Amino acid sequence: MSSAAVSGPRILFRQLRRVMAGQGDAELRLQTIVGLIASNMIAEVCSCYLRRAGDVLELFATEGLNKEAVHRTRLRVGEGLVGDIAAHARPLALSDAQSHPQFAYRPETGEDKYHSLLGTPILRGGRVIGVLVVQNRTMRHYTEEEIEALQTVAMVVAELISSEEMISSKELLDTAGNATLPHRLSGRVLAEGLATGQAVLHEPRIEVRKTIADNIAEELDRLKGAISRLQSSVDEMLNNSDAMVSEESRDIFEAYKMFAHDKSWLKKMEAAIETGLTAEAAIKRVQDDTRARMKQITDPYIRERLSDLEDLANRLYLHLDGSGGIDRHHLPDDTIIIAQNMSAAELLDYDRVHLKAVVLVEGTRSSHVAIVARALGVPVVGQCHEVSDSVEQGDFVLVDGENGQVFLRPGDDVVQAFNRSVRHREERQAKYAALRTKDAISKDKQLVGLHMNAGLLIDLDHFEEAGADGIGLFRTELQFMVRSKMPKVDEQAELYAKVLDKAGSRPVIFRTLDVGGDKALPYLKMKEEENPALGWRAIRIGLDRPALLKSQLRAMVRAASGRTLTLMFPMIAEVSEFIEAKALLMKEIEREKSRGGGPKNVKVGTMIEVPSIVWQMPHLLREVDFVSVGSNDLMQFFYAVDRGNSMVTDRYDMLSSSFLTMLQYIAAECAKAKIPVSVCGDVAGKPLEAMTLLGLGYRSLSMSMEAIGPVKEMIRSSDISKVQEFTAKLCRSKDASAREQLRAFARDHSIII
Ligand code: PEP
Ligand code: MG
Repeated sequence: MSSAAVSGPRILFRQLRRVMAGQGDAELRLQTIVGLIASNMIAEVCSCYLRRAGDVLELFATEGLNKEAVHRTRLRVGEGLVGDIAAHARPLALSDAQSHPQFAYRPETGEDKYHSLLGTPILRGGRVIGVLVVQNRTMRHYTEEEIEALQTVAMVVAELISSEEMISSKELLDTAGNATLPHRLSGRVLAEGLATGQAVLHEPRIEVRKTIADNIAEELDRLKGAISRLQSSVDEMLNNSDAMVSEESRDIFEAYKMFAHDKSWLKKMEAAIETGLTAEAAIKRVQDDTRARMKQITDPYIRERLSDLEDLANRLYLHLDGSGGIDRHHLPDDTIIIAQNMSAAELLDYDRVHLKAVVLVEGTRSSHVAIVARALGVPVVGQCHEVSDSVEQGDFVLVDGENGQVFLRPGDDVVQAFNRSVRHREERQAKYAALRTKDAISKDKQLVGLHMNAGLLIDLDHFEEAGADGIGLFRTELQFMVRSKMPKVDEQAELYAKVLDKAGSRPVIFRTLDVGGDKALPYLKMKEEENPALGWRAIRIGLDRPALLKSQLRAMVRAASGRTLTLMFPMIAEVSEFIEAKALLMKEIEREKSRGGGPKNVKVGTMIEVPSIVWQMPHLLREVDFVSVGSNDLMQFFYAVDRGNSMVTDRYDMLSSSFLTMLQYIAAECAKAKIPVSVCGDVAGKPLEAMTLLGLGYRSLSMSMEAIGPVKEMIRSSDISKVQEFTAKLCRSKDASAREQLRAFARDHSIII
């Protein structure tokens, strides 16, 4: 390669800046740009392909190939070398392109004369919006510097393509166009509700809007300013004892500190600015380089450190404008959080007054973030796969958490229709509110107990309006998850007492700590596990480290002094585990009694979440006062299907004869032994599933607050004896799902589901 190409970026950037700043049709400017690249890189050909809807790459501009091929030559993503570059989002340099197995010859282009090819994806916000290619007649070996130079030029091209003018002239719906046109996306309802607001990205993304510097000295100053702000924020994090709750986080921040002060990292970015880039483009340039190096390194420790560096580059970018990123406690008025996925603790960390809804790329209904969101009344649409590609920070968003839809930048007609849905929802809520004082009694006069699942103090505010008979599941771990330190016995006791006060004469079932798996406590050191759902969690931690469980039991016993204490243990897989856990409780009760306190009445039960305990029912039922079916975990272990993995959660239906047969067996055994049984998993709150549970013999259900109205309405419209006859038949069916049959039954019998 000639020296012009290596020393060229600066000259080329200067020329490109002139084109970018100039006026005129965007497509003509793109044509000028490919001409400049070809001459600057001493290449006979330079072509630009842009991505259209339907994953098609279309030739938009070329210097060197036949002009008639423009807008005619199209390749699918993955097809030919251009498609390959787009599919893998990585550059490709070949001295003999035609001998490559992926080469796809397009006669209209006249490219058979050219042997070597260098191509790079045009990226915007992490997605491929096109491909930029140079070609030479000779079998040329492109150098690393040339590859880098073309990547940088591709950043400039991305900027031009994303200009509004280009989008509107060519309807590049699948590329940058997404960012400005209205868009409707489908997902799944993880938490019901409707909301409007502006998009705030949970994982901020680097978006280089301007690549070429107007003034290099100014850009160097901006970088310096950002670096010093970054350094002080990292130092601050290290000194903040609240954030430094575990050794792991200290390790990470120590590494951040090392990188933030690393001279060679800073020098590389300065050198990139000196070639003519803006500060943000320089950060991105160096970050791309780190990413490429990361791919080649196999040592997990070094990879981990490089990924820290990547995160640090993101932070540095946010410091360029002085903001340092989003502040979870100072959000815009109506905030819609957009995230890949999120833990329950992260959700709880957001300021709840301004948070109106959440949209996730992943997420499932029984994941804990969804459970917590339902408790908070925050609508969530999950599995919204396209959202991260289509949304921009600050976009106006409508979240329809009834039908699982998200509208980005909607037009007036959509906003009006949405407002009508909001009014309908309010009317329905008013109808459920009117049912509040009515019993959950069926047409054939069978009474069903409807209880509420809770875990946060905010749940208690809704207790009265929900019209629940009690709290059927109090997930105590949520209180532990929202704190940065382990709550002391006194603090826990105070909370449990508040819950009991609020419930008055109505029963409350406390569940002891169910942590581990996907419910991490920031201050409890846990080893990384291969299969956390099957690992050291819930009662297993409680029995192996009894100090934690004992302190919780002590707090509960104290809180229930002079009243009834009802509690259950999670994830019991063997009766002996229940006996051991109950013995710890009895000791605490004895202790409290010797001090003159202690509960008046104690009822101890267990969750049914692990299939092994189902096969010990007769034995178990001699030991317990009650049981509660945790169908979320029971389903997970019964079908060996990770409840948090959206790729598999819909594979099996809880309304299948095998699962229904197991549920029927549990209910029948409990009836025989006269032991109360209820269902507190997610299914209890869905009208169709709840109807089926009644048919299987369950008369007590516990669910999220907002599910009580619809389930009560279903019960009041049903004749349970008829449902029972029907479900008995289903348990003998061979179908993988009885859902449609159950739906048809409900329809034929006018049951409101
Ligand atoms: C369950 O597993 O069904 C349950 C209620 O517990 P959690 O969802 O908290 O695991
Ligand atoms: Mg569970």
